Amino acid sequence: MGLINSMKKLPFFLPFGGCRGRCVYCSQSTITGVADVPSPEYVSSVLKELDEPREICFFGGSFCRFGVSKVKEYLDSAVNSAPKGSRIRFSTYPGDLTDTSMRNLIKSYPIACIELGIPSLDPNVLSLCKREADPKAIIEDIKNIMDESLPLGVQMMIGLPGQTKESSISDLKKLAEIKGPISWDLRLYPCLVLEGTELENMMTNGTYKPLTLDQAIEWGGQFIDSALSFGFNPIRIGLQESELLASKVKGGPHHPALGEMIASESLVRKLTRTNWTGPWIVPEEHISKFTGHGCFGLMRLAELTGTTINAVSEKLSFFPPAGKIL
Ligand code: SF4
Repeated sequence: MGLINSMKKLPFFLPFGGCRGRCVYCSQSTITGVADVPSPEYVSSVLKELDEPREICFFGGSFCRFGVSKVKEYLDSAVNSAPKGSRIRFSTYPGDLTDTSMRNLIKSYPIACIELGIPSLDPNVLSLCKREADPKAIIEDIKNIMDESLPLGVQMMIGLPGQTKESSISDLKKLAEIKGPISWDLRLYPCLVLEGTELENMMTNGTYKPLTLDQAIEWGGQFIDSALSFGFNPIRIGLQESELLASKVKGGPHHPALGEMIASESLVRKLTRTNWTGPWIVPEEHISKFTGHGCFGLMRLAELTGTTINAVSEKLSFFPPAGKIL
């Protein structure tokens, strides 16, 4: 799995910057630990201190919804202050790059990636999440961005109100058909219930039932396995763990190693899909997916193939050879 990217990232969080409403699950101050949107002048002052190029990231809001002139201020602050060779990545709401003036502006900067928030393409799920519910507009935006040859990524979710495993994998498939052979970065966020969100009220009044940890691992594992086979590049699974996040989670599959367990589940599913009984030969870099978190991967491989941990570990080897893992 490609959880790597060459240039170091420097994130600036712009909590709810540009957002026109509040998606039911979102609490940017909890996710990012940042209360106020930093100004372009502040961004510039931080970037002037750098001594090597970075991927400068604007996350935590709907970047393009700031409008052309404010977006230009942030982009200028980045290119004029950061070391030469730096690039820019931002996350934004899909739909705003249909505006030609916004696209013309964006494409004149060194863009590493435009990450579109596409938690789902199902209008019912989008509407229950209080997001604009027109999948056609999302797809049109994607095509406009592709026409400009701008690099794209997607931020998707599982466990949302009204969402099923099948609908999420069907969304992934639709996006894969549009992207073709190009690789898109993918972030997957299993839905958590955060304090103070509308989702917390929905959980309390029984209109939303969050995923358990086991359900999220199984769903996430299948989702990532499909994503890899469709040519996506998963760069993040699950929210960044922090004490603040841990203190604000009111429900859902919260675990500091959720992303790693989903990655293990995905690999194990791939192995059993291609060879049900083993033996299995896996690149050495994946050892921790079997041995980490109480030998989670070995345990899942044993469960899925109906045998014991000792039996599957005998059939599992790594290249270059890594010796016995149990
Ligand atoms: S999910 Fe994105 S668009 Fe929705 S409120 Fe949060 S930052 Fe804004």
